[in-house]
Amino acid sequence: MNIELKTKAKVAVIGAGPAGLSCAQTLLDLGYQVDIFEVNSKAGGLSRTIEVMGQLVDLGPHYFRTQVPQVQQYWDQCTQGIAMHKVERVSHILYQGKLFSYPLKGFEALFKLGFFESVLCVLSYLRSIVLPHKGNTFEDWVSNAFGYRLYNIFFKTYSEKLWGVKCSQLSDQFAKERIKTLNLSKAIKNALVPDKTGHKVRSLKAEFIYPKLGIGQVYDQALEQVIKSGGRCFFNHQVDEIVVNNNKVTGISVSKVEPHQDNESSNAHFTKVGDSEFLEYDYVVSSGIFTDLVPTIKCLPLETRELSSKLKFRNTILVYLKVDESAGANLKDNWLYIHSPEVLSGRMCDYANWSKDMQLGQKEHIVCFEYWAQEIDALWQKDNEALIEQAKADAIASGIFKAGSIKEGFVHRLFKSYPMYVDDYAQVMKSITNELDKIAGLYFIGRNGSFKYNNMDHSIHMGILAAHKIANKYHGSLWDLNFDGSL
Ligand SMILES: Cc1cc2nc3c(=O)[nH]c(=O)nc-3n(C[C@H](O)[C@H](O)[C@H](O)COP(=O)(O)OP(=O)(O)OC[C@H]3O[C@@H](n4cnc5c(N)ncnc54)[C@H](O)[C@@H]3O)c2cc1C
Repeated sequence: MNIELKTKAKVAVIGAGPAGLSCAQTLLDLGYQVDIFEVNSKAGGLSRTIEVMGQLVDLGPHYFRTQVPQVQQYWDQCTQGIAMHKVERVSHILYQGKLFSYPLKGFEALFKLGFFESVLCVLSYLRSIVLPHKGNTFEDWVSNAFGYRLYNIFFKTYSEKLWGVKCSQLSDQFAKERIKTLNLSKAIKNALVPDKTGHKVRSLKAEFIYPKLGIGQVYDQALEQVIKSGGRCFFNHQVDEIVVNNNKVTGISVSKVEPHQDNESSNAHFTKVGDSEFLEYDYVVSSGIFTDLVPTIKCLPLETRELSSKLKFRNTILVYLKVDESAGANLKDNWLYIHSPEVLSGRMCDYANWSKDMQLGQKEHIVCFEYWAQEIDALWQKDNEALIEQAKADAIASGIFKAGSIKEGFVHRLFKSYPMYVDDYAQVMKSITNELDKIAGLYFIGRNGSFKYNNMDHSIHMGILAAHKIANKYHGSLWDLNFDGSL
């Protein structure tokens, strides 16, 4: 009897991004009834593909990899039947007009920096081994891993562009989650000393599998599978409140929204239509924005609800430029980190280097320059024309593009795209999650949903595990999941 009741339990999933979709599918496979509520009119969240200037583009670069079999299995299921192709992974750091491989290759980095700078870098690396930094900031962690000098050249500028704060204010958690360490001594030895077979050690060519029509294809298909399995998805429905009674979730309040006409230019342009409606559910899994939804839970102590305003997100501005076919012809990069301080953008991505099919028959490439800002920053307040001019200036300053080769531009703003690991965010999260854990039937997953700097694979993993938690098959904490993620 009990089992019958359990398998019929109703779950509301907030958000149709990778986390919400993987959670919904896993729940459906386990026999639950699932409804997804998505404020947008499309699935995929930050990982969707949009059409811009007659071509397909992702919201920044979106490269998938995982070492978790469950996540791989979900990905394989979602990509079944989709035309995929192997892409050679090429990414560099642009610094002082030179391209350095990313992840950093020790010997190559030293060689390109020149003799004197390399000696100083090696000495600084040795110093970090003998006298490591004791603190727990991003600067401490990266300086210990690479030496202060290499940190200063290859990590500081980009990270400060991205986060808008000094690296000495940024938690080391971000570095631990995202940066592959470098063993400089091993790198030098490998480059110089033949291995036992008599050959120099060569790095393997890195490849990844990517859908021919953009990353969003995967999540469109994931949604189709959810629907085929009996799930429902309500697009243009925004969850306004998570309703809890006696420390047990009872449902959500939802209102319909209408996307603005310029919906493709932002992830947050919606107007409410009509009143909020209460809908009853046994469980709620939220991948909606953590700081929007926590304050709506009225049973939480006021102090906890207010605490969430201390958590900050960084916004992203994506400026897409259409450039002549031959403009960046020598550049094979999928994406390029721009450390050069004279360029305001921190990263550039060329979609034609991911899939020619995304050009939809056009010859020109679409390249995307990324900028990061808070709403109050002058950069965020610039109008789209000014942002396009900024990106054009950066494209030329980077030395990669010539003035005449850039045709037109398009701006897409992503509100709340990077949870910021700054100040006392970890203690704030601990205080909030201690209270949230007292509520039965409520789970928080995903990048913005659990305030965790997730990649797609991490969000998919959280979605699957949240479903298993509901089904009593996973007993660990979702908050403490530790990912080995190094892009
Ligand atoms: C510029 C950029 C580049 C990236 N590059 C990579 C990469 O190369 N590889 C990689 O693996 N990952 C990458 N990522 C990360 C990836 O985009 C995210 O990890 C992933 O999309 C997170 O999935 P999610 O489901 O947790 O959240 P989201 O994708 O944010 O989905 C959440 C969904 O919830 C909806 N929602 C929010 N609030 C509500 C509400 N109140 N009611 C209803 N719906 C709501 C949103 O509209 C959204 O659709 C990148 C991200 C950015 C910004």
